[in-house]
Amino acid sequence: MIIVLKPDTTREQMDHIIEKLTGLGLKAHVSAGTERTVIGAIGDERILRTIPLEAFPGVEKVLPILKPFKLASRDFKQENSVIRIGGAEIGGRKLVVMAGPCAVESREQLLEIAGEVKGAGAAFIRGGAFKPRTSPYSFQGLEEEGLKYLAEARQKTGLPVVTEVMDPRDIELIVKYADVLQIGARNMQNFRLLKEVGTYRKPVLLKRGISATIKEWLMSAEYIMSEGNHDVILCERGIRTYETETRNTLDLSAVPVLKQLTHLPVIVDPSHAVGKWELVPPMARAAVAAGADGLLIEVHSNPEEALCDGEQSLKPKMFRQLMSEMRVIAQAVGRDL
Ligand code: PEP
Ligand code: MN
Repeated sequence: MIIVLKPDTTREQMDHIIEKLTGLGLKAHVSAGTERTVIGAIGDERILRTIPLEAFPGVEKVLPILKPFKLASRDFKQENSVIRIGGAEIGGRKLVVMAGPCAVESREQLLEIAGEVKGAGAAFIRGGAFKPRTSPYSFQGLEEEGLKYLAEARQKTGLPVVTEVMDPRDIELIVKYADVLQIGARNMQNFRLLKEVGTYRKPVLLKRGISATIKEWLMSAEYIMSEGNHDVILCERGIRTYETETRNTLDLSAVPVLKQLTHLPVIVDPSHAVGKWELVPPMARAAVAAGADGLLIEVHSNPEEALCDGEQSLKPKMFRQLMSEMRVIAQAVGRDL
């Protein structure tokens, strides 16, 4: 249920409603918009039907949330969510680009790439220290050593750090270094992991599962949000279809669909979608045109030697070129980059 408050509702009146809801075993999530404050009452809604919420002072109206995802839905919050991290904002007028190598391989490798992507205008450095690899014999990441290099890259460039968390047991360590926690495609329905990151006050970048529907993806966002962490960024990274020319099929229609269904920011990762560096720029440009709030792009100074995903990584020069092309498209659709 959504409880819409009157514009002049006092703090005491709101607290009284929240107390009533929590007393009934429901969770109360407050969304303070510029126009209106609403309370999302989440839990077994049958209980709610037994109390006359409209009779409470300060309540304007009570509405059901018809979608299975509640906190993530536009019904709960009409304005776009803008997530603030350091000096960056995700979901505002300005697009954000998260760039870096698939895996942190060494201090030198990471610092070099971080300097390059910063120079090209990226807003975040992204690199994996814990890598979900298809083969157990592939490079699995530098773990804490890699996190330390990411923190050093942040200190040198000022770029906040995005890095993946694969296991609830690693979160405590990763939150010491990261600014945004990435949940990879393979873990999109790892509900224990989702719930756990939901208890932290760190934004979460939630990638779409390899064969997840948009609804399933939003239900995963709901898992995180229902634990209290509302700072979720959705990342379309391609889905598995019958097509084999590309690594995955980039579902760009997910961008406008999500813009209708949810207030959460949406970014696009063309690198994992197409799997080939030549195809990354056209799909990145298309993502900007489709209304994405940002991009996640893999960049490597020496893709031939990369320990992970070299075939889809852009060299810094090409990344710089792409950034300037995307800037023009952003302007054309009323955004900045
Ligand atoms: C990655 O971002 O490097 C990655 C492994 O992506 P995904 O989870 O989308 O496959
Ligand atoms: Mn990768």
